[in-house]
Amino acid sequence: MSFYPPRRTLMGPGPSDVNPRITNAMARPTIGHLDPVFIELMEELKGLLQYAFQTKNALTLPVSAPGSAGMETCFVNLMEPGDKAIICQNGVFGGRMKENVTRLGGEAVMVQDDWGSAIDLDKVREAIAVHPDAKVLAFVHAETSTGVRSDAEALCRLASEAGMLSIMDTVTGLGGIEVAIDQWGADAVYSGSQKCLSCTPGLSPLTISDRAAEVIRNRSHPVQSWFLDLNLVMGYWGNGDGKRAYHHTAPINALYGLHEALTILKEEGLEASFARHRLNHEALKAGLEAIGLSLVVKEEDRLPQLNLVSVPEGVDEAAVRSTLLNDYHLEIGAGLGALAGKVWRIGLMGYASNPTNVRLCLSALQHALAAQGLEVNGAVRAADAVYAAAGQ
Ligand SMILES: *Cc1c(COP(=O)(O)O)cnc(C)c1O
Repeated sequence: MSFYPPRRTLMGPGPSDVNPRITNAMARPTIGHLDPVFIELMEELKGLLQYAFQTKNALTLPVSAPGSAGMETCFVNLMEPGDKAIICQNGVFGGRMKENVTRLGGEAVMVQDDWGSAIDLDKVREAIAVHPDAKVLAFVHAETSTGVRSDAEALCRLASEAGMLSIMDTVTGLGGIEVAIDQWGADAVYSGSQKCLSCTPGLSPLTISDRAAEVIRNRSHPVQSWFLDLNLVMGYWGNGDGKRAYHHTAPINALYGLHEALTILKEEGLEASFARHRLNHEALKAGLEAIGLSLVVKEEDRLPQLNLVSVPEGVDEAAVRSTLLNDYHLEIGAGLGALAGKVWRIGLMGYASNPTNVRLCLSALQHALAAQGLEVNGAVRAADAVYAAAGQ
């Protein structure tokens, strides 16, 4: 029997709602992955990714696997056994970076910050002073597990001033907040298709600076992962020599989807997309605060696309999420790690970042809280006031 999923509204930590233009694009005919028309699409995709990342990096392409593979691509290509990396951890994903480093035979020096706080630049400066021999400084720009934005520009500068290569995770950043690769001088950066790009999961946009690409070409050991070896992947995505060597079969239809997602982003414009994410965040925040719910992260560190909301005393957080899913087909996220049971994570990413979703989520939360004896009102009115003040 065929599988028919329910229709949900996705306001968790990703995947986010997929624009129907994207699923329509993905339903178009599959062609060969070395078909000249497909190669044209690959070239266009590189240009669209350069636009989204605000970079001229020639080595800009989507890895044929999810964001986690983008992370692994950066570590296995930039690092060799025995190399040292300074890794900033302020949530789930810094821990995965450490795993990547130790598994490839590298040494990970951890700089820890509390979950829910931004990366402390002073601690990073100290770690650089103690470990000037580190090759890489790695950090998460937009920590999806906590809804925190760290100062990516300052971190990239610290890395380059110390002669280190920066690895930046902006899986949740790209398309939702400023990501300016060339201006920041970032070296190896990966993202994901299913967060603020609102495409289906399974692809990881990647961009590598010329400096880092040189390091990859001049390695003394071959990259441990054959599939993620950028020296080989470059041969498939084009080295600029006009030749294409088969490496793996590109996920053709998924790439139609990413092409459409990036086309939508370019039509809207980066600045307009960032402004839309900010406005819907402001409206959600006003609605939440009107019913006594507060955002956990300090205002200046908040991600507009991922809102960490504290669960009121006496409220069963899992029951609230079940009510939203069962009665409203609405998905929000639970807390992770130290924050499990204490917070919800409400995503407003990409196509899902819109006033209708904000109102739906606020109404549904009021309903779910009432089911637990907490009668609250006025959330949507407070959100509407924010939209009205913005002339919408
Ligand atoms: C979602 C996410 C990832 C992992 O992406 P997958 O597509 O799930 O593999 C990595 N880093 C951050 C910050 C994320 O939000």
